[in-house]
Amino acid sequence: NTDGRKRQSETMFSKELVLKHRTEILHALCSSGSAEPLERVLDILLAQGELLCEDYQNIQVPATIPFSECCSNLEKKQEPQTTFTQTLLAQRPSLVSQLQDCTDDALDALLASGHFTPAEYDEVQLPIHTPSQKARRLLDHVRSKGEVAAEILLQYIQQKQTSGSPVNKEKWNTPKEFFKYQKKLSSSLAAQSCFLSTYGGTSNMSLEDIYTEGHLELPHDCIGVHGSLGLEDIIGVAGTVNEEADTILVSGEAGSGKSTLLQRLHLLWAQGAAFQDFLLLFPFSCRRLNSEQRELSVKDLLFQHCCWPDREQDEIFQFILDHPHLILFTFDGLDELKQSFSDEHRLCCPTQCAPVPILLFNLLQGCLMKGVQKIVTSRPEAVGPALKKHLRKEVLLKGFSQAGIGCFVRKHHSDPTVAAKVLESLQTNTALLGLCHSPVLCWIVSQCHKELLGCGDGSPQTITDVYLMILRHFLQHKSPVKNSIGFGWIKEHLDTVLHLGQLAFEGIRTSCYIFSDTEMNACGVTEKDISTGFLTQSTGLSSVHAKMYEFLHVTMQCFFAALYTVLSTNTDHYIIPKLFESHVMKEMNMNSTCFGICLPSVEQQQQVSEREAMAVEITNLQMTATFLSGLLSQRHRSLWLNCCPRATVEKKVKEVVRCLSKSLRKHFRSIPKPVDGEKKSMHAMPDFVWLVKCIYEMQESSIAKDAMSKLDVNHLKLTYCNIGPVECTALTFVLQHLKNPVGLQLDYNSVGDVGVEQLLPCMPICYSLYLRNNNITDEGISKLIAKVIQCDNFQKIALFNNMLTDACTQHFSQLLKTKQNFISLRLGNNNITAEGAKQLAQGLKVNHSLQYLGLWGNKIGDVGAEALANALESSKTLVWLSLVCNGVGNAGACALANIIKNSTSLEELWLTDNCITKTGAECLIQALEHNTHVKSVWLKNNNLSVEEVEEMAQREPRLIL
Ligand code: ADP
Repeated sequence: NTDGRKRQSETMFSKELVLKHRTEILHALCSSGSAEPLERVLDILLAQGELLCEDYQNIQVPATIPFSECCSNLEKKQEPQTTFTQTLLAQRPSLVSQLQDCTDDALDALLASGHFTPAEYDEVQLPIHTPSQKARRLLDHVRSKGEVAAEILLQYIQQKQTSGSPVNKEKWNTPKEFFKYQKKLSSSLAAQSCFLSTYGGTSNMSLEDIYTEGHLELPHDCIGVHGSLGLEDIIGVAGTVNEEADTILVSGEAGSGKSTLLQRLHLLWAQGAAFQDFLLLFPFSCRRLNSEQRELSVKDLLFQHCCWPDREQDEIFQFILDHPHLILFTFDGLDELKQSFSDEHRLCCPTQCAPVPILLFNLLQGCLMKGVQKIVTSRPEAVGPALKKHLRKEVLLKGFSQAGIGCFVRKHHSDPTVAAKVLESLQTNTALLGLCHSPVLCWIVSQCHKELLGCGDGSPQTITDVYLMILRHFLQHKSPVKNSIGFGWIKEHLDTVLHLGQLAFEGIRTSCYIFSDTEMNACGVTEKDISTGFLTQSTGLSSVHAKMYEFLHVTMQCFFAALYTVLSTNTDHYIIPKLFESHVMKEMNMNSTCFGICLPSVEQQQQVSEREAMAVEITNLQMTATFLSGLLSQRHRSLWLNCCPRATVEKKVKEVVRCLSKSLRKHFRSIPKPVDGEKKSMHAMPDFVWLVKCIYEMQESSIAKDAMSKLDVNHLKLTYCNIGPVECTALTFVLQHLKNPVGLQLDYNSVGDVGVEQLLPCMPICYSLYLRNNNITDEGISKLIAKVIQCDNFQKIALFNNMLTDACTQHFSQLLKTKQNFISLRLGNNNITAEGAKQLAQGLKVNHSLQYLGLWGNKIGDVGAEALANALESSKTLVWLSLVCNGVGNAGACALANIIKNSTSLEELWLTDNCITKTGAECLIQALEHNTHVKSVWLKNNNLSVEEVEEMAQREPRLIL
């Protein structure tokens, strides 16, 4: 009876709990504006017999059917064994969900068997019901009809389960107007997405003609998933870190193709070519949402900002609420939203109005429209931990691969000979090739192919060079000037450059990327300026923004802002230091007078913490500063001397140089003192890479030399710093002036083969190079080894988890043969087989310096292990050897035992995760009897029984089993 009492007290406790949390429960059940949550709870209570039919009827959920008939029937039948009608009740919750996408067919079956009349059929199908309500109505009717009807329905459901008919959008029980709305939404989306703004709406080039797959990958810490993803994998399960969350982040640098990727996704959906699991797709641009000053509800947001339903708005919205898994939202450019993500203000009701950023943040967290999938794009810097914890997964967009660059250039030029020439010229200028991994730069280079092919040796090296090329291209394309040779061309268009420059500059100061007439007038922008093509009309799905303009790309806006900083005599003299110390931007933002209109209300502004307000702007400020450094480089100075007094230009140059040196010095000062016995090491902050890029843009070796003379470290750690080929070029430009050799750690970046090539000039000052996880292939290795073979200092390399095969091993073999001071070679998790191991063995045989050899996770097998063992048998230097997870069996183990027998240097042999049995292990034990140096031989996860393991462990404690 204690049990009985316990149960009684538990019930009491539950009741108290319900009473105590009455308000929250009510809120959870009713606040969504849909009856669905309440009805689901009722289904469960009914199924468990906790709710009587009369009670159910009394609750009177809107659209719940009169229940009397079925109840009375049911109550009369209190048979002991389970009847079909009882099954309908007991399994109600799952039956509702199974039936809701096939009520039509189930009704047809019941109509055909004569258990339903056409009137009853129509009643269930009344358009006021949501699909789940229809399912419930159907169940209630069937139960009232008795056993045979219940049996027919259960049979029908069972058949459907076994035939496993897929979800078919035609089958969803949708409001009448739904398909009209869907059509309207998809045709406006198709019209919206068929052209890229950089090609102008009038161009013959459609998105379909030019779209080139970008390189999409999962973050490096996603275990077990490697390689490039397709567009549809974005919403797939791979890389999921939080099953509960609905928001997927696509992150990538400015110009990496995020907006274009979403545009492609929208078009594919609108054409019915992909993403068809979603019945509706609502696209949003954060840039455009910035100008929404009103408070809106989710419903307003969907209908007013995306597509207006001509009729039955309520029903369509109800359908959306009831079928969240059939809906997709996309939000482009979260980094451009004026407010940074915050999850402080919670909002759950889809009909409640709130400021747009609050709506957006609640959507992303899943407080609003839980279950609707959301894809959001952003630059990585603007995504803080507050948002990260609400992410289902993150996908990184890395721009074009090398093959992608070729593909894009060929698509851009209908004439294949032009395409071939452009590609040829890129091959001869690898710095420019590196830049072309960024799609926006690849677009500029293709657009300016005439300038590129005509410029001979002076072809662009830096990002600034590329943007100056497009500036000249657009300006002269529109109105070719006679005096186009030489440095006069900027002067010819000075007014335009200043007008657009001011617009860009003020926009960057205030996070404004879309400009109204008022703002354009304030900066003196004329029709002629607009016609140069740098601005494009901002076309949202909503007509509200018809008369707004934006720069072709945000990077273009930064470039014009930098031009303005160089050319204007109006900017205050603190502007350059401010650009280089981006944390003071908050102050600039507050002082802004030009675009007061773009700022959120004072009240909202106050809500945003200082740190959040800054995060959004920093990336654009830094990009502007990078361009400014490039524009003020010696090579371009003559352009400005035609337009401004020499003294002013020189003063600005000095200011930039001073700021760069100061910021770097500050960075170096923050390096902690080394722990005793350890090397002095610097872990670079992201700002370090940016400052290095600025120095590269300036092309000023003296600044690089000066900076490096102050950097005194032995190890430079740049892991997870988003380093691609462009960053490698800049790093090399600066690091080659280091005084002492360093270990350069670039693990977990996107260096790739082009990046490796860029790094070559700084190999002479490298003591070790760590390039784990960097998409490097044999081609990159061949160039790298050819260089490092000549570098006396170079002693260690780590290439774990790249794309290496046997083809690279001949180069390592050569390296081992040539460099008798080489210490460490780590090639784990690549694709090296027995053939590769044989090649390596050739080099190992004649090498007298190697101490560490790591081949973890390759496929060398017994044959490979034998070859290596043979080569290393008489090594006097080898300390550590890892052949973990390589398919090594007894033959390999016995051969490796010979190293143990002979070696006086070996300390650790790693053979975990192989297929060695007792025979192989015995060989190793015997060998250990002759060797006192070896500290451990790892044999975990091989083919040894528990008894064997126990027995061997006793005999030889150095075996780790
Ligand atoms: P982001 O949103 O990351 O800043 P965008 O998508 O705006 O970058 O890309 C900038 C420009 O680069 C586009 O206007 C287009 O010209 C080009 N581009 C980007 N991605 C692609 C792609 N996948 N295929 C073809 N061109 C692209």
